[in-house]
Amino acid sequence: MKTGVYPGSFDPVTLGHVDIIERGLKIVDKLVVGILNNSAKTPMFSLDERIRLMKTACEPYGERVEIVAFSGLLVDFLKEQDSTKVIRGLRAVTDFEYELQMAQANRSLYPEMETIFLTTRAEYAYISSTVVKDVLRNGGDVSHFVPSSTLEMLYKFRR
Ligand code: ADP
Repeated sequence: MKTGVYPGSFDPVTLGHVDIIERGLKIVDKLVVGILNNSAKTPMFSLDERIRLMKTACEPYGERVEIVAFSGLLVDFLKEQDSTKVIRGLRAVTDFEYELQMAQANRSLYPEMETIFLTTRAEYAYISSTVVKDVLRNGGDVSHFVPSSTLEMLYKFRR
């Protein structure tokens, strides 16, 4: 059985993330969504909120998707999950430089690992957690940016 890891902050989960998860499931049997607990960043949503939002968004995929919090190095999390495959999403060429650097740094720490880059549908390419947070802060409608199953919870956590 092939297990992949899809790591990120997911602050909060967007339609772009879910699209990458669906594509990832075509490549691996099981996908572990790793939600980063990064003490250097102050997220809008707490770790627990981000986990609950992601669990709700991933309900349709059943046991093929597992949501796990992690902190520290991605390569250590990969080993813990018994996986050598990292899935990352690319929105535009601007993501590429950073992603390439991360992939190469990770590989130097863990030579057996591979990073697989997937792209979303064009209509999701502009969606980011940052856009969602900006719209939320300004009282706008985020229903076109996040999974409909998470909308109510998202507003509850923020209002
Ligand atoms: P990070 O803080 O690690 O960049 P994010 O939660 O912002 O994490 O995103 C996790 C992953 O999903 C990253 O690989 C990012 O490039 C990808 N991603 C985010 N939004 C989209 C999108 N709209 N289309 C494709 N990939 C995306």
